[in-house]
Amino acid sequence: MPNWRHFTNEDDMSIQVNLRQNNAAYDSAATAAGEASARILDAQLGNAGTLAERIGLIVSLHPDGVVFSTSLGMEDQAVLHAIAASSAAVDVFTLDTGRHFPETLETIAASVERYGRDIRIVSPERRALDELISRDGVLGFRQSLAGRKACCDVRKVQPLDRELAGAEVWITGLRRAQSGGRGDLPFASFDAQRGLIKVNPLADWSLADLESYIEANRIPINPLHARGFPSIGCQTCTRAIKPGEDIRAGRWWWESADSKECGLHSPGADAGKRMPGGEA
Ligand code: SF4
Repeated sequence: MPNWRHFTNEDDMSIQVNLRQNNAAYDSAATAAGEASARILDAQLGNAGTLAERIGLIVSLHPDGVVFSTSLGMEDQAVLHAIAASSAAVDVFTLDTGRHFPETLETIAASVERYGRDIRIVSPERRALDELISRDGVLGFRQSLAGRKACCDVRKVQPLDRELAGAEVWITGLRRAQSGGRGDLPFASFDAQRGLIKVNPLADWSLADLESYIEANRIPINPLHARGFPSIGCQTCTRAIKPGEDIRAGRWWWESADSKECGLHSPGADAGKRMPGGEA
């Protein structure tokens, strides 16, 4: 008598192997297509003129699913200005960690008023936040690097990943000149981990370019920048820097310099590159 269970298990296994092979083939084809699209965009952005024209080009090539996550830093305020100037259909959101400076919240309000467009406020998932605080306490991020990363993960990385799921293109305010490790930052690359094209329209801008753009266009910026805060994140984890200090010295100042990552710009499309000065 045939062993039907044995037969069915083999059959199931064969189906699963086929599914895995099909999924792997699909993933591989999707990655190749994403990389090809990113290469085209990277080349074209290098020839585009103004920042608003770069934003317009991005949206013309990818009319659906372009998102911009702003930390309200100087770079991101410049990008927001260009999005508004180009009238491009871009979904703009910011991550509300629940620990922002009042000045950061005021910058959000000032930007909404200036540009007359919505900046969606994205909050951490309630349950994950409750579990984090009940396990680590309200200041758990000070106790260990693991505790700090867990806090950033719940308050920033998970909400960001949730918002990026389904997006086709993610605009950032990264610049090559922000750190030595970011010197080869492309205008566009495929982020295989998140399955989208990551675009950096300010990639070739210097700090002087950024400052003159902000001044010429009277772009609202966080008043803390004028008080010694070049890089602004959560209030509990950011201090002003002293003259001569690195621009990131005020972020998680109790940690060593090489651990100052929160995971928003994860290794992958731009592996090894650090967060922008204004990244929350
Ligand atoms: S910057 Fe500090 S408070 Fe903000 S999410 Fe990270 S560890 Fe938590």
